[in-house]
Amino acid sequence: MRFQEFKSIFGNNNNCNPYRGCEHNCIYCDARSLVYNIGGEFTDIIVKQNAVELARKELSKKKKKTLIHTGSMCDPYTISEAKLCLTKQILEVIYEFGFGVGVLTKSDLILRDIELFKKINKRCKAVVCFTITTMDDVICKKIEPNSSLTSARFEALKKFHDQNITTGVWLCPTLPFITNDEENIRKIVRKCGEVGVSYIIVFEFGTTMRDGSREYFYQCLDEVFPGMKERYQKMYGLQYNCKAPNEKALWKVFKEECNRFNIKYEWEDINKILSVNNNYSQISLFDN
Ligand code: SF4
Repeated sequence: MRFQEFKSIFGNNNNCNPYRGCEHNCIYCDARSLVYNIGGEFTDIIVKQNAVELARKELSKKKKKTLIHTGSMCDPYTISEAKLCLTKQILEVIYEFGFGVGVLTKSDLILRDIELFKKINKRCKAVVCFTITTMDDVICKKIEPNSSLTSARFEALKKFHDQNITTGVWLCPTLPFITNDEENIRKIVRKCGEVGVSYIIVFEFGTTMRDGSREYFYQCLDEVFPGMKERYQKMYGLQYNCKAPNEKALWKVFKEECNRFNIKYEWEDINKILSVNNNYSQISLFDN
């Protein structure tokens, strides 16, 4: 773990991350790509040691009350957050200044802060999202080895929904030949319906690979799915955008199931849900 002072904590779109790098070590992680220039060993995270002061300073200058996002490029609930509590302290600052929050994670460590999310939601708005890529906990352990298992993520989603906090799922990536079967997508959406998820984000059914991330992904594939690397090399070469060969069929299943459970997936609807003026929380079909 490396501790560094930073000059600013907010990036584009009100995004704020207290860490660089991530200990969850997902085999497909795009943030490993050389273009992001994180440097050093990716799982040896850089801790922004002045993150809380920066959040306070920068939020005090923001006028428009909006959602502050965290969770792109690194997980705000990376393993060390359990001890360091930087994300938790930033949430406290967000609450203090009356902003809302949108979090994306793969860790049920987020449950530790559920009372804070409730307070933020009452004062402004809180949206909690989990990335879900597979319904199979065994595959999950292989591709996202240090995150919470899918089953634990769904349990956490239900707990947030039960507290009237809007929840979402990022269904990405879909790994060709590993998680791109129609049954997997169908089961994920159905489970989202069961636990009251309001929206699911899918950019494309497929994955991305580029210099830095590709090498690590292939090295891991050799370990956990022997022979799979060669299939990828043959199918995608050095392509960045690697669409699942059955993406059309996956979109069909996905949309059918989302419509069935009234889960939003169009950007126009998602943006409405994410607006601080709209306190939307999906009523689960399984609610009484
Ligand atoms: S949780 Fe996200 S940032 Fe962390 S390793 Fe996995 S994909 Fe990368």
